Amino acid sequence: MTTDAARGFASLAVHAGQEADAATGAVIPPVHFSTTYAQDGIGGLRQGYEYGRSGNPTRTALQEQLAAIEGGSHAFSFASGLAAEDTLLRAALSPGDEVLLGNDVYGGTYRLLSRVLGPWGVRLRTVDMSDADAVRAAVSERAPRLLWVETPSNPLLRVTDIAGLAALGREAGALVVVDNTFATPALQQPLALGADVVVHSTTKYLGGHSDVVGGALVLSEAHRGGPLADEIGFLQFAVGAVSGPLDAWLTTRGIKTLAVRMQRHSENAASVAAFLQGHERVARVYYPGLVEHPGHDLAARQMSGFGGIVSVALESQEAARRFAESTRLFQLAESLGGVESLVNYPDAMTHASVRGTDAAVPVEVVRLSVGIEDIADLLDDLAQALAA
Ligand SMILES: *Cc1c(COP(=O)(O)O)cnc(C)c1O
Repeated sequence: MTTDAARGFASLAVHAGQEADAATGAVIPPVHFSTTYAQDGIGGLRQGYEYGRSGNPTRTALQEQLAAIEGGSHAFSFASGLAAEDTLLRAALSPGDEVLLGNDVYGGTYRLLSRVLGPWGVRLRTVDMSDADAVRAAVSERAPRLLWVETPSNPLLRVTDIAGLAALGREAGALVVVDNTFATPALQQPLALGADVVVHSTTKYLGGHSDVVGGALVLSEAHRGGPLADEIGFLQFAVGAVSGPLDAWLTTRGIKTLAVRMQRHSENAASVAAFLQGHERVARVYYPGLVEHPGHDLAARQMSGFGGIVSVALESQEAARRFAESTRLFQLAESLGGVESLVNYPDAMTHASVRGTDAAVPVEVVRLSVGIEDIADLLDDLAQALAA
């Protein structure tokens, strides 16, 4: 029984949903490209498959793997992280419902809520989610239908208390959603801490190789066989923002090495953070693994590692831009979570759309997605870029 839920994380990541092919014994299950399935008489489906939008064995394998690694009851895979979010929000909300979210959530999440779902009557309110008193006050003022948590946040790595907010949300009758893209289930398990739903952009660490766009939703045990699972399953089929077979397979392959990758990302990021913190041209380092980080103790309790993202403030906007354009091994690009190191200047790249709002990123800040290369090469590269 390869999906035995009692197994450890790394074993589940390698084996869940990955039974050898029954017909040939192939250890790696084949990728199923077929869009349609032969029926044994009208309505006589073999294993429930009828048409590629409603179900595909390669997608099923990924969904079983995702449910196992997050410790959830159901998982649903989508064409992108935002497609997953859209499906969840449509399933959980009705016109007039309100979402309470962090003031530093992923910009695409904010855009989806404000510009796509807003005109359909969904309301939103933002709060500093890392400030428990502020969240409590906001919830008691008016109970939201849904509480959206992202921790650590992007790019300033603020850390939010998942268990505390899950308890608060449950009391208020709100659905508690955690975007677990940055930490991944290798380092943080929101469903075990009381969250209802985990959201992923599998484009990032789960895929892990910067070669596939995808997203996922995983529901807690409390939702097994419940109306939310039914509604999400229905919308996945009825709207159809599903992952294609090759995308699903690439994501499955990425997840198999997630445990070792996150270990190496975290080790390298810790070394990068320590190096930057000791550098004369650096004004501030944002990394939850540093004892000076305001969320360090919480992160140490809530996470089993501090992850691969490090942000750094230099002395000035000019110095930050020059640093971001001077690295060689760290490539200047958006996105994060791949094996290769990337550097991003949020103010003009990933976070340009929130310039001038209270979610704006300081112009001195540069974000590093620390890859799994040799640490000596990464530090050499940062040293030469800081000298530039
Ligand atoms: C990238 C990202 C998303 C959106 O995912 P896509 O796969 O790009 O649609 C959502 N949340 C976080 C935290 C992300 O980094």
